[in-house]
Amino acid sequence: MSRFAYHLPILKYHCVGPAPAPHVPTVSAAAFERQMSWLARWRYRILTFDELLEAMEGGRRVPRHSTILTFDDGYEGVYTAAWPILKRFGFPAVIFVTPAEVGTRGFASWEQLNQMAGNGFTIGSHTMHHAYLPDTPQTQLHEELAGSKAVIEQRLGRRVDYLGYPIGGYTPSAQAAARAAGYRAACTTNRGTSFALADRYAIRRVKITERDANPLTLWAKLSGYYDAFRALAPPG
Ligand SMILES: [Zn+2]
Repeated sequence: MSRFAYHLPILKYHCVGPAPAPHVPTVSAAAFERQMSWLARWRYRILTFDELLEAMEGGRRVPRHSTILTFDDGYEGVYTAAWPILKRFGFPAVIFVTPAEVGTRGFASWEQLNQMAGNGFTIGSHTMHHAYLPDTPQTQLHEELAGSKAVIEQRLGRRVDYLGYPIGGYTPSAQAAARAAGYRAACTTNRGTSFALADRYAIRRVKITERDANPLTLWAKLSGYYDAFRALAPPG
């Protein structure tokens, strides 16, 4: 099996539209639309995780100018603001949801998730209670990982193959538990655009903010130059 590293920017969003609460990282619908039209103009291919895993397992590279769009937490704004824009561009996306929060104030409902899942979106797990896994006792890991997967599968009638670690936190035992629960891959919030086949339970992402409506910063983040720039910057 091939050992090369995948250079693939995986974009991480939380909410789109009006912020449901001041602490929620949110990109306005206008900025999100500009970002999506930039991807379309430069002919980015928006992959699903299934397509990425198929390429990785087959030892194939992914096409240049590919990316994956991910949303953490399952805010309702993904349904009300982001989805209509994504539909227009024909872009799929991945939403990592927390069953304990689905349908509560500010979060998408099962019905809304079901509609998106039926239209090319992938629904992944973000654990049962948005658990920070490095602090989660071993005895709880099963419920957070296998339990959340089972609930989402039962509510949506679809397989759940992907996990997003809340707050990006993971440990070797959390990775092992994710694998044992049957996830095919898991995403962190660690910044980066490259990962190897061996890292499929620690896939890095690039956080996209309102300021990335500026095409230059969006390009820098997608190209990996942003990481190079950050690495050169003095610590502080
Ligand atoms: Zn989260």
